Amino acid sequence: PSFNDYTLSDDIRRALDSMGYAKPTEVQSKVIPIALQKKDMTVKSHTGSGKTAAYGIPICELVEWEENRPQALILTPTRELADQVKEDIMNIGRFKRIKATAIYGKQPFARQKIQLAHKNHVVVGTPGRVMDHIERDTIDLEQVKYLVIDEADEMLSMGFIEQVEKIIRELPKDRVTLLFSATLPKDVERLCHKYMKQPLDIEI
Ligand code: AMP
Repeated sequence: PSFNDYTLSDDIRRALDSMGYAKPTEVQSKVIPIALQKKDMTVKSHTGSGKTAAYGIPICELVEWEENRPQALILTPTRELADQVKEDIMNIGRFKRIKATAIYGKQPFARQKIQLAHKNHVVVGTPGRVMDHIERDTIDLEQVKYLVIDEADEMLSMGFIEQVEKIIRELPKDRVTLLFSATLPKDVERLCHKYMKQPLDIEI
């Protein structure tokens, strides 16, 4: 497989070149073409497989630069992963000038509030802090068209799944949902059935 197999704009292609991504990894070759068609997906994959770019590339391609409100929400179990994902998104979206911000606990709320008031195409965050911002009305999710639940099984084992569910209920129904998980425990499967539209199951 080659990145040339997918309908990607020059801005995104150029970024992949500059990052040294010569060809898609296995998970990328399975996820990118389907995500570009805006279909829901459950992807069983591990860290190190290139899963971040598997959703990061289609999201950077699909978001509309002109729209000032967040169009993609990515939920991660940890602060470290949130930062990493934000960095990857900014790299992939560099030439398209994609704006992303990461929000998580143990960081001043006020600063995040300011960050969220700026133009962002993508918001990455941990469930607790995202929920805080929803409750205080400091995050605008009305234009979210893409939701990624990353490391869903970790989210479950850390006790975040109820918050994830609460967040999902705040989002527009007309959206694409991508769920990534190393394993698919019952509660994660239940989440998929409840909140995804005939998701394709991808296993690496
Ligand atoms: P991840 O599974 O998303 O944590 O990615 C694992 C590592 O693989 C990261 O350091 C990425 O920068 C790198 N990576 C992801 N996709 C590619 C690719 N297509 N070619 C080369 N490296 C990649």
